[in-house]
Amino acid sequence: MFRKFPRKIKTVVVKVGSSVIATNQMKPRTAHLQSLVSQISAIRRQNINVVLVSSGAIVLGMGELNLKQRSSELSSLQALAAIGQTILMRKYNELFGKNKQKCAQVLLTWDDFANRSRHNNARNTFRTMLDWGVIPVVNENDTISTDEIKFGDNDKLSALVASLVQADLLVLLSDVEGFYDIKGTEKKIFEEIKEITREMEGLASGDASHLIGPDDQAAKKNMSRGGMSAKLNAIKIATQAKIPCIIAGGETKDVLLRILKGERVGTLFMENEEKILARKHWISFGAKAKGFVTVDQGAKQALLKGGRSLLLPGVVSWEGHFKKDDVIVVQDENRQEIARGITNYSTTMLQAIQEKKGQREMIHCDNLVLCER
Ligand code: GLU
Repeated sequence: MFRKFPRKIKTVVVKVGSSVIATNQMKPRTAHLQSLVSQISAIRRQNINVVLVSSGAIVLGMGELNLKQRSSELSSLQALAAIGQTILMRKYNELFGKNKQKCAQVLLTWDDFANRSRHNNARNTFRTMLDWGVIPVVNENDTISTDEIKFGDNDKLSALVASLVQADLLVLLSDVEGFYDIKGTEKKIFEEIKEITREMEGLASGDASHLIGPDDQAAKKNMSRGGMSAKLNAIKIATQAKIPCIIAGGETKDVLLRILKGERVGTLFMENEEKILARKHWISFGAKAKGFVTVDQGAKQALLKGGRSLLLPGVVSWEGHFKKDDVIVVQDENRQEIARGITNYSTTMLQAIQEKKGQREMIHCDNLVLCER
């Protein structure tokens, strides 16, 4: 029986991990890349837009310099990414060219999502490339990404890109065949998941690295940043934007073609029934919080009921330097995050009005998103 996706797939985002891209010796896996690129080109010929999010820059940079150990120093990783990214793109250009398909390089940082106008600008650029039938090949702009503006892993980047281009499907290809249900010594791949439960999160944090061979494990240390937890976090971002996701093995034959045909390959995570509005999705996942406000018990209870704004009298204190219209985290007195929202007040304004708080709204309910817990 074939899978039925919730809607016709017009745009798909495919994310490939470093282990799919590079050998244990940190050189491009040409045969794999060839197959990946020819599948993507075939999908494009079916008039489906494809965005490829590809890792592999750092690993290929290491291979180029014959380094055996991944450095933990930020500047070394950034330099390696700069070296490896050109190797990666040269390979993609050559292989897409052989398939008479054009591709383009897109390097992003979190700032490109966090800033609303850059976010919209990026969306238009993607739209134009897709309209022209070009395959955008996306990676994090590691060379300039400092901790402040880093995504951290390409799984998350791919989920944000999927929501940016309003994709109909996100496919995460890695060295595991799907998301495993492990009971004692038994393991089997979940075929379809409607909702990620706490138990599943537990399985993911145990990581599936024991499911791959010992040689691969050593190499994996140099390659992956993500792991299964990062994948689930990314999937939560995408499914909340109503985008179904699939985790599948990058080495499975014709994996992409089969997935798009509806074959039951890997694990399918269904979209959330309730789509959160684009702006609320951006508040939760796209924007980087610029500060915190701590609220009292009364305000916390009111917010948790839903549909309520955060009023100034409930605010106990604040941290960080935020401006009006920045996204901030709302936390309770135990520092538990309750919500995120766009503030109507900057820290300077808060200081100035400290004594006369009134019933003014610090965050309007339309600009406030409760955390799911
Ligand atoms: N951007 C990194 C690279 O291309 C990889 C990040 C990841 O795999 O999550 O090397």
